[in-house]
Order: sequence, then structure tokens, then C-alpha cells
Amino acid sequence: MLTIKRIEAIAVSLPMAKPMKMAGVEIRAADNLLVRVEASDGTVGWGEAASAPHMTGETVESMVAAVRYLVPALEGRALADLHAITEHWTFALYGNHAAKSAVEMALQDITAKVAGVPAWQLFGAQRRDRMAVLWLIGTGSTNGDVAEARARKAAGFVAYKIKVGTGEAVEDARRSAAICDVLGPGNLISSDANQGYTVEQALAYVDVVKNAALDFFEQPVRSKDLAGMAQVAAASRILIGADEGLHGLDDIQRHHDMKAASGVSLKTIKLGGMREVFDAGVLCAQLRLRVNLANKVAESSIGIAGVLHLAAALPGLDWGLSITNQYLADDIVARPIRVVEGHAEVPGGIGLGVEVDEAKVARYRREL
Ligand SMILES: [Mg+2]
Repeated sequence: MLTIKRIEAIAVSLPMAKPMKMAGVEIRAADNLLVRVEASDGTVGWGEAASAPHMTGETVESMVAAVRYLVPALEGRALADLHAITEHWTFALYGNHAAKSAVEMALQDITAKVAGVPAWQLFGAQRRDRMAVLWLIGTGSTNGDVAEARARKAAGFVAYKIKVGTGEAVEDARRSAAICDVLGPGNLISSDANQGYTVEQALAYVDVVKNAALDFFEQPVRSKDLAGMAQVAAASRILIGADEGLHGLDDIQRHHDMKAASGVSLKTIKLGGMREVFDAGVLCAQLRLRVNLANKVAESSIGIAGVLHLAAALPGLDWGLSITNQYLADDIVARPIRVVEGHAEVPGGIGLGVEVDEAKVARYRREL
């Protein structure tokens, strides 16, 4: 019987290629948790979770502490008991979804490696193997954003997310419309306020962009304000998406029932693991909600691989894929996942399909 021999929580700080501005935060380095799990036969699996305190309530320090709290109940358990393990930690430790997601990803990686299959096969059939990737536009100025849009379009990108909620709503809306005009038809274009607006500001924004080629507008107002989300959605010609408001399948159902969103952004750190994200994707298909699948800004190729395997298997992916190692100055695997002409492919091989460079992990490791 294969068992979990050792679980290690590793804090890393990965350098960004350049700072990324979004509402309420400027990201200069990716402070992430890596989890390394070793099975009794020596097989090693890896998982990753970005710290996003405003989204999950977790810091790198708290994630490391949460994993260490869970470890005694996990080491020595049979790998085949993955479902029972995650049932147990839901009961034993409230919340901490990002920390749990990194452990779960590592356990899925090992499970797939031991079975000799790619990770997507743990979830069902492969529905897609090459996906359009959203490029984030958030330089801090209209001119900078327009130039960035032109450059990325020339590089082959066909999907975008414009960061708004950082300035005045009408100005943000004019900037969004200008970017849509530059990109032209045939693209998936979204904007994301990261909860940065009041309901009044969000209403002003959707009014100005009503004739722009925006496919969806994400999390205009505070995560808990579902009535406000519904008010904006009712007034908007652009479809509204929920992101920070989702921490479990119940939240997805609630947004649907209150007409607070037409689609959702799914992340392993919010929902607690790859299995939860896949189950959320199934629920979204039943509720006819659009799906965007995303990493947090920014994650290494480990977290990216987790999301790519989910993208391969999810029932729907109408709102595209946001993968974020493209914003890092360096990566920690032997062959980083590349976005080529705006598209990414599901890694081949078994497990997550990435080979972690432990020397790189040591270089970016932070002792807490
Ligand atoms: Mg978002």
C-alpha cells in the first residue's frame, strides 16, 4: 500500500518581470506556497498556491502554518484515500483553501504519476489540449495599456483582461473602450475591477462601456455585496462575472440564484483544490454559467500545470484561461510552460507533467 511519507511546506518569493497594478494592490513579487509530497515508494508530487490575502484571507506565513497543522493527520495515510483525506481536513480545519489546494494538487500529481497517467485523466475525458490565454493589461496609463494591447495582439494573443477599479470609473471605462477599439473584433475581452467600485461607480462604468466589445466585466463591487452585483448585472449590457465572491460551490449557486453573475472565475486557491474546481465546473455547466479558469498573479509552472490539466477536462471554458507564469522573471521547473502566440498546451507526460528544479526552489525559498 502506497502511503504519504513526508509533506513539506516551502515559502518562495518569485520575481515579477514587472510590477502589476490592480485595485488595492501592486504586485512586485509572487509570494507563494509550494508543497512537496513524497510517497513511500519515493514518488514526489508538487503543488502550489499563491498568497492572495484579499481573496482567501491567507498569507504565505499562514499557509505554511496551516499545512504544518494538517501534516500529522496526513503522513502515513494511504494515497488511495485522497477523498477521505480532503473530507477530513474540511472538518478539521475551517477555511484555509489556498493552503489545502497546494497539498491537494501535490497529492493529485502523485496519484496520477503512480497511475502512470496525465493529471487531467483523474477528472475524466480530455475535452481540449490547446487553449487561448488571457493577457492582463494593467500598465497604469491609457497610453501604456493601448501600446501593450497592440503589442500583444501582434504577438498572437486573442484574449485579454483589462485591470480597472484603480482609478475613476468613467476614466477606467473610457480606457477600457479605447483598448477594445484597438484590439478590434474576434477577441475575448474582459475587464476586472477586483471589487474596486461602489455600486454607483460600477453603474457609471457599465454605462460608458455599453457599446464596447467587452465580453464580461469581473467583480465590480465588494465580494459580499450580491445585491449590488445583481443591481449592476441588471443594468449592464456587458455580462458580469464573479471572482472574489466565490469560496465554494454554495457561493456559485447563490450568485446564480440572485442573478448576481452570468459567469465565474474558478481558482484552486479559492475553492480548495483541483477536485473542487472540477466539481465547480460541472455545477456551472448545470447552471449555464460561463467559466473562466485562472491562476492568481503570479504562479510558477507548477500551479500553471494544475490549471492546464483542469482546463483539459472542464465541461465549459467560455471565458478563457488566465495563466500567470508569463508575468514572472524566472520559473522553477526544467521546461517552463510557455504561452506561444497567445495559446498554451496541456503538458504531456504523467502527473502534472512538470519537472521541478529543486535548485531553483532553494534559490527563491524564504525562511519565515
Ligand atoms: Mg479577478
